[in-house]
Amino acid sequence: MLNIIVLGAAAGGGVPQWNCGCAQCAAARHNSAEARTQASLALSVDGRNWFLVNASPDLRQQINQTPALYPRDGALRDSPIAGVILTNGEVDAIAGLLSLREKTQFSVYAHQRVLDILDANPIFEVLDRNLVARLPLAVEIETELALPDGSGSGLTVTAFRVAGKSPLYLEGIAPKDVDGDTLGLSFTDRASGESCHVLTACARIDAALEARLNGAKLVFFDGTVWHDDELIRLGLGTKTGQRMGHMAMADSTGTMAAFDRLDVKRKVFVHINNSNPVLLDTSPERQAAEARGWVIPPDGMEFSQ
Ligand SMILES: [Zn+2]
Repeated sequence: MLNIIVLGAAAGGGVPQWNCGCAQCAAARHNSAEARTQASLALSVDGRNWFLVNASPDLRQQINQTPALYPRDGALRDSPIAGVILTNGEVDAIAGLLSLREKTQFSVYAHQRVLDILDANPIFEVLDRNLVARLPLAVEIETELALPDGSGSGLTVTAFRVAGKSPLYLEGIAPKDVDGDTLGLSFTDRASGESCHVLTACARIDAALEARLNGAKLVFFDGTVWHDDELIRLGLGTKTGQRMGHMAMADSTGTMAAFDRLDVKRKVFVHINNSNPVLLDTSPERQAAEARGWVIPPDGMEFSQ
């Protein structure tokens, strides 16, 4: 059985974001809406060993609010986290690695481009390389994720390139949107054949991606903004969703319109920015998204198949 826990579904900054007074952040701050941590998923096929998609800056809090990720009974130093798979090198995907520095063995899987970012930043040497292997994830090659003892976990991942952009802090320094900047991930439980797709960032759905997603039972997809120009309209920023490497949910060329053409059984938005009104339970945007079959998950929501 493939088990998935949404550790957090918010985009960078979370909900509420420390310096934001928008309607969604204010509601979360005053307990009239759900607070959410930054995007990360945990996956397991045995319920005992878990692999994370991204290590968010909220990872310590996410572990503390997720009993499946507690040290296992009777162990003095232990974690069920066997590995972390990184989809990109953004701060909200990698900063949580620094919270996993207390000498426990696990593996980090990432595209070589993201491993190069980690290698170039000596702060990540707090992850003892004798315990924390950094493993390159090549695109379009199915890899069985390994347990700390080296045995196969029974869970495989296939990374694939999606349209996106380089990390914000490398803009102007590194080349733009090169191979490996933004990955989608397909996971499969070897024993049951059950699978899911995870895309925490995606700037465009092309024919190849449509073909990959069509017929899927479960897809977690980038839900950063409702409208492409939402941050500008709300006076929260100067960038469009596209400029940040994300499709909009509701625009005519956006995510929901694209998925309406596909046969996907369960559709879950993750990486939802706090500017997005879909976060509010009673908003017309939430009702519209749910009416089109989308789930807006709270922290801790579980899926299995
Ligand atoms: Zn806000």
